[in-house]
Amino acid sequence: MYQDTNNLHIATENITKSYRSGDAKTVALKNVSLRIAQGEFIMITGRNGSGKSTLLHQLGLLDSPDTGEIYINGREVTRLSEKKRMDMRLRQLGYIFQEYALVAELSALENVMLPAMMIGTSKDARDKALTLLAKVGLRDKARRLPTQLSGGEQQKVAIARALINAPRILFADEPTANLDTIASKDVLRIFKSLNEQEHITIAMITHEPEELEYATRHIKLSDGKLV
Ligand code: ADP
Ligand code: MG
Repeated sequence: MYQDTNNLHIATENITKSYRSGDAKTVALKNVSLRIAQGEFIMITGRNGSGKSTLLHQLGLLDSPDTGEIYINGREVTRLSEKKRMDMRLRQLGYIFQEYALVAELSALENVMLPAMMIGTSKDARDKALTLLAKVGLRDKARRLPTQLSGGEQQKVAIARALINAPRILFADEPTANLDTIASKDVLRIFKSLNEQEHITIAMITHEPEELEYATRHIKLSDGKLV
């Protein structure tokens, strides 16, 4: 039903998601319908447990809803094979998490190169990774291990890694929650520039009201529903 909308980048139609553990069932998302246009920078807020991470996981094809549909670039992706979903995640989507999720044994440069190696373009992966590290201000720290970098620097490495396969959409789950004010601003400025200069669509979760000014739109979840 969304295929006619030219600039629509991601959409959900009535998605629901529950988690079961033993006899207990938690309904994390209740009929969420959301449309995100190409080039938007969406910030998602809501209390702990309101379903923010669950929503981001569905949008980013890291998980599947129980009912409802997800569309990316006007194409229904909800029931694609796991192989096709993995391919989309690697080539079209980028992820940034609160805890950076870097591989501890690999240098900053190797961490950034990793998603490029996974799709077999290792030939120019190194040059691309160095260019991206320069872009986030870490060209001189390319050989360092994650433990030899500050939290803010690790998050910038994670951003460079998310960009290596030139995704058109970035998902970030509380990317500044572990960072001090200065590092948080750096990260947000990088996001804003990616959004404004390179027209990358961004969906980000935050707890900080002062970060909302960086976004082009703010949506709020409460108890698994959009409000
Ligand atoms: P938020 O990111 O807004 O804090 P989540 O999407 O992580 O919220 O969680 C929404 C609800 O689903 C919460 O009640 C949470 O406890 C529950 N939940 C999330 N992930 C799981 C899981 N893997 N197993 C069971 N319950 C979960
Ligand atoms: Mg969360």
